[in-house]
Amino acid sequence: MDFEMPYTEEQEKFRAEVKSWIADNVPDNMRDPIDPENFTEDMKQFWRGKHQDLATKGWLYPTFPTEYGGGGLSGDHETILQEEFRQARVPGNFTNTFVLPALLVWGTEEQKQKFLVPLLKSTVTAWQKFTEPSSGADLANYESKAVRDGDDWRLTGQSVFVSGRGKEPEYLFGPMMTDPDAPRHRNLGFFMIPVRDANGEPTEGLEIRSQNLVNGGDQHFIFLDDVRVAGDHLIGGDHQGWQVAQTSLEQEHGGRGNAFPDDVMVDHLITWMQDKENTDIEKQTAMDAYNDFRVDNILAKRTYWMYSNKMSIQYEGNVANVHNREYQCRNQIRVRDVMGPYAMLDANDPRAPHKASRKSDKGLLLACATLVEAPTSPELSLPVVSE
Ligand SMILES: Cc1cc2nc3c(=O)[nH]c(=O)nc-3n(C[C@H](O)[C@H](O)[C@H](O)COP(=O)(O)OP(=O)(O)OC[C@H]3O[C@@H](n4cnc5c(N)ncnc54)[C@H](O)[C@@H]3O)c2cc1C
Repeated sequence: MDFEMPYTEEQEKFRAEVKSWIADNVPDNMRDPIDPENFTEDMKQFWRGKHQDLATKGWLYPTFPTEYGGGGLSGDHETILQEEFRQARVPGNFTNTFVLPALLVWGTEEQKQKFLVPLLKSTVTAWQKFTEPSSGADLANYESKAVRDGDDWRLTGQSVFVSGRGKEPEYLFGPMMTDPDAPRHRNLGFFMIPVRDANGEPTEGLEIRSQNLVNGGDQHFIFLDDVRVAGDHLIGGDHQGWQVAQTSLEQEHGGRGNAFPDDVMVDHLITWMQDKENTDIEKQTAMDAYNDFRVDNILAKRTYWMYSNKMSIQYEGNVANVHNREYQCRNQIRVRDVMGPYAMLDANDPRAPHKASRKSDKGLLLACATLVEAPTSPELSLPVVSE
């Protein structure tokens, strides 16, 4: 069966327009580096400006409604944008996009104007503050609290693993426990928390600290110590935080699918193998890695197709998401088996085969660390493997 979809003449015209924007606007030294550690402050400033330009063209959030700053374009446009941007290594916006549907569904009109419009125009960014030390997989186990103080709220608690590029966003978003006496799932509110006050000063009591993980990722600790937040920053009712969070998680856990899933790690593996002699076992292992990615690709595209055609999604997004998490762990092991222990080195390390096996999300390595045995004695005297 042929799964490739041909593009119409009109769509190819749009692709040419996107390619031409990239050629005019994306210098080589500003392309997304393979290793996230090489994403410099200069790049961040450059891309914040470019993301705003893209938003003005309707290309940053192509399928969101134009009345709130989206592009009002079709899923086909989004697919073409993703294909071209990935190929040219155009970095995505610095906002965790899963907040956007939550605001669209649960925000009042005033809240949409206040939060959604600037987020879609990329004049502000937001990070997802969900995970706490004792509420990860069991997300309803929140301990961070929000206590009413007149029209405002006072927030106290801490979070871990909050991802985001750069030092800080304009907002953090996530649930807080508003009613310790209410039953689980009905005891939460969902807040947009400003990182700076109206004068541009750091919000009193709020601290963001890099987690400085061994995988080099962009994760942060967040500490809230009696942080005052205005009442209109509560999205949904003060007992509806779980439902608001679910609108966001439904998308994160596969419900939006993916128009153009790619896998840099599999690309690198196959390219690297083309230049060397391979044993039958190595070839078979690489084929398994490729096939697993293709299955993932089809599952993600199916969900995207259902999503963009407004079909009711039941198990499909979850199946795609579980497959995605699991196949990436399987492929880490396969890539290590074919490339050897040096596959786990940093992308810039001269001993790393074909820029190593790393994806841009180095968190993956940490997530899979328990499944991968540590390489034995990675001696400098072993041969340097180049591209
Ligand atoms: C690279 C990276 C980026 C991240 N970015 C963000 C972010 O931007 N924002 C954010 O809020 N969080 C983020 N996270 C956190 C992530 O969402 C959590 O790691 C995840 O929810 C799991 O939580 P945990 O790490 O506390 O593991 P745990 O919840 O402790 O789970 C550990 C293991 O126990 C299992 N387990 C847990 N509870 C049960 C149970 N009741 N029954 C059976 N098995 C169970 C889990 O399946 C898992 O295998 C990020 C994590 C990583 C690694």
